[in-house]
Amino acid sequence: MTRSHSRLARINQWTENARLERLHLLRRETDASLTQLATPLEDPSELRGQIENYVGVVRMPVGVAGPLAVCGEDAVGTYYVPLATTEGTLVLAVTRGAEVITSAGGASVHASDSQVTRAPLFVFPTGVLARAAGRWVIENFGAIRAQAEATTRHGQLLWIEPITAGRRLVLEFTFRTGDAAGQNMVTFAADAACCWLRGQPLFSRVEFYTLESNLSHDKKIANLTQAHRRGRQVNAEVTIPRAEVVRRFRADPQAIARVALEGAYSSILSGAVGAQAQFANVLAALFVATGQDVATVTESGTGLTVIEETAAGDLYASVTIPNLLVGSVGGGTRLPSQRECLDLIGCAQSGSARKLAEIAGAAVLAGELALVAALASDTFAQAHAAYGRPRKTGTAA
Ligand code: NAP
Repeated sequence: MTRSHSRLARINQWTENARLERLHLLRRETDASLTQLATPLEDPSELRGQIENYVGVVRMPVGVAGPLAVCGEDAVGTYYVPLATTEGTLVLAVTRGAEVITSAGGASVHASDSQVTRAPLFVFPTGVLARAAGRWVIENFGAIRAQAEATTRHGQLLWIEPITAGRRLVLEFTFRTGDAAGQNMVTFAADAACCWLRGQPLFSRVEFYTLESNLSHDKKIANLTQAHRRGRQVNAEVTIPRAEVVRRFRADPQAIARVALEGAYSSILSGAVGAQAQFANVLAALFVATGQDVATVTESGTGLTVIEETAAGDLYASVTIPNLLVGSVGGGTRLPSQRECLDLIGCAQSGSARKLAEIAGAAVLAGELALVAALASDTFAQAHAAYGRPRKTGTAA
């Protein structure tokens, strides 16, 4: 550890003086001016729990995509979706998709309840003991649940699935996390349950223990992710009349469906998990704007897009997002500008997490339709040339 590293750690307090001291140290030891980064926006004391060694703020531009009509259970209405991105054309593309969806009466969306996992690992001397411990866990679920739920007012332990591999036992804890994305919540609850478990006679034989085995695919893509939900499963669909498709997308339903099908074939060829065009693009921008943990785009940003010509010659499109991990409370959602973005889509109040998931699903559908249609009309490169690079005049062609 260098001198500056240890110094930074020593001044790890959430005060303005600590922040300025850190900046002073960095300027002295590097050639960086840090003028923009140093422009204070937040009260450092408000950032405890969000950041360490705080020095400043990276400002991201936010655009709005819409109007986007959504017919969900909780999201019913027309929304302007905040997207924080530096990829020119993204907001335009989602807006184009949103306008077409809206003209067709809106996206029908369903978001399931949230399920979030934590998967501790116990290594026993033998597989016989590991399997016996797994059975014991099932028989004593009530007592384990009481330990876990004592740590939270909103979290509920739904079940524990014991998974054995030789003498290794993974206990996959699955929680409902209310309006929170819930990664901290499930960590604290599983930790309390495991502390109690490790005091039980059968678990005294454990040779190795770790709170997370890596089986919960936290911020990772896995085939298991498609079967074991982490977050909410979201389905969004729309049927767009043929004339509207041709007028707005300048391609017919058959051509758009063909591009989507060829894309699915290539996804199989590439060994991709799921088959879709740009879930991560829309979700990352929405996550940054609304204070979500942006790294969870890894598990959230995969799934299936289906685009077909209907028997009547119209265009049907759906997206399935198996693991959408979003919260309307917790994490970065409490920061002022992120809260304003949640407020913009009516998701700043208690009980809004499902609504946020439904709006996210509809926005992802808009992004898929726009990108596939741009490829079908052969305007994809043109759009990026016009909007995806800086222009001296600041206006698009
Ligand atoms: P959190 O900010 O740690 O906690 C959310 C809090 O909101 C809980 O304390 C909960 O209280 C409270 N709450 C109030 N109203 C609620 C409602 N209606 N529904 C649910 N909760 C409500 O956030 P989190 O969602 O648990 O965790 C997200 C954070 O964890 C992010 O910052 C993320 O980056 C980070 N993270 C942690 C890990 C980890 O392993 N620990 C991994 C990845 C990411 P009660 O619990 O008392 O109900």
